[in-house]
Amino acid sequence: MEVEVEDCPAAAAAAEEVIGNEKTSADYYFDSYSHFGIHEEMLKDVVRTRSYQNVITQNNFLFKDKIVLDVGAGTGILSLFCAKAGAKHVYAIECSQMADMAKEIVKTNGFSEVITVIKGKVEEIELPVPKVDVIISEWMGYFLLFENMLDTVLFARDKWLADDGVVLPDKASLHLTAIEDAEYKEDKIEFWNNVYGFDMSCIKKQAMMEPLVDTVDANQIVTNCQLLKTMDISKMSSGDASFTVPFKLVAERNDFIHALVAYFNVSFTKCHKLMGFSTGPRSKSTHWKQTVLYLEDVVTICEGETLSGTMTVANNKKNPRDIDITLKYSINGQRSKVSRTQNYKMR
Ligand code: SAH
Repeated sequence: MEVEVEDCPAAAAAAEEVIGNEKTSADYYFDSYSHFGIHEEMLKDVVRTRSYQNVITQNNFLFKDKIVLDVGAGTGILSLFCAKAGAKHVYAIECSQMADMAKEIVKTNGFSEVITVIKGKVEEIELPVPKVDVIISEWMGYFLLFENMLDTVLFARDKWLADDGVVLPDKASLHLTAIEDAEYKEDKIEFWNNVYGFDMSCIKKQAMMEPLVDTVDANQIVTNCQLLKTMDISKMSSGDASFTVPFKLVAERNDFIHALVAYFNVSFTKCHKLMGFSTGPRSKSTHWKQTVLYLEDVVTICEGETLSGTMTVANNKKNPRDIDITLKYSINGQRSKVSRTQNYKMR
């Protein structure tokens, strides 16, 4: 069965621009998931893709003879893993143009009987079955919550998941640590002070406000890593993705702190043994990297001292795919006495 939905906005915008079979750059601007490049990046992220593969192939009992819903199927990779693991049927929902490729991929690999690709927005399609046993999805964005696809998974869960059904993954957590990052802060922020002899420092404010997605070297870590928030995807509500949480980072050495760094872990607790992966700076790097939040102050911290505060995370009111982050931090140490509030916006 195929349900074509006109107003998956990205897909619709892209479709309008398609001339013959050729896509214009506008298509890709409006609908990045229609281009194979982003799927290539995700598939080649072996920490990500192998984790899902291992979860599925090593836990057949979760899939054997089950009805599975793949939320945001992309190329259909997770659906294929599930079909191979013995699922009775897999519904693969994908709103971008990649759905057409997924259909072809399913056919080429001989899974047409088991996998049904539905092109459309999860929020708008009709599913041929009233309930599913398993919902699988790779919905995580930068800083876990960027792009806000979690809402789509929660929508699917509330609408179609059977009472004893499982969501995979079912746990996600956000973590925070602090780093020394003089060199890069100089390059990204102080750069604007003197650009070919001109003062462009007015841009610094904006640069500071944008969290930087980049790989952090584990050697830069100055404090402990703290768990900020755990989300139970099987139980939480959409509102639980907006929160204020306290943190206390304790210095493990004498050093400067230029930035706080956020990252996430996901886990699949319904497996035989706990499985999952981390996107933290001490783990093998993934395409999510880490999220760096530069501090206006350079904090000088001594071993054992604490940088404490709160982090507030909320979807932007105007554009719910963007995230507003407010950081309040203070330290009353030997070398630094600071108390400040900074706002960031991921877009
Ligand atoms: N499951 C694939 C793709 C993950 S990326 C993999 O693991 O490789 C997330 C995918 O979800 C993208 O292809 C995006 O187009 C799709 N998507 C996001 N929101 C959606 C929605 N509301 N309805 C349907 N598909 C959606």
